[in-house]
Amino acid sequence: MTYAYDDQNIFAKILAGDIPNKTVSETEHTLAFHDINPQAPHHVLVIPKGPYVTGDHFARDASDAEIIDFWRTYGAICADLGVTPDTGEGYRIISNAGRDGVQDVPHFHLHILAGRPLGRMLNPA
Ligand code: AMP
Repeated sequence: MTYAYDDQNIFAKILAGDIPNKTVSETEHTLAFHDINPQAPHHVLVIPKGPYVTGDHFARDASDAEIIDFWRTYGAICADLGVTPDTGEGYRIISNAGRDGVQDVPHFHLHILAGRPLGRMLNPA
């Protein structure tokens, strides 16, 4: 199966420097920035710089270096926010994919949500 990547999606434009973002951290393969419409006191998006549509696409086709960099960056951001459950109050990561996942931006991204009790994971459909 081949994923068709839309290189005009909003996050592609952010990566190209055509749309501004509030950067949280940037590494060789990964960019993290504040969500423009935060759903919690902390709402950070973590994206790979490569053209991956969903998490499964990333897991299948990204290099080991990209995958390691992505997950280390996510962990470092949680630590920097002070929300890791070992010392803080916890957080949630979400990655929506496709139609049923209600993914709006077709570039793989992880939502990191924290800073308030987040309730149960899913509301009834
Ligand atoms: P999803 O529905 O999982 O695809 O989430 C897309 C997320 O991108 C939403 O939470 C939006 O608020 C966020 N978003 C859309 N445009 C921007 C932007 N220009 N800068 C930062 N976040 C954005």
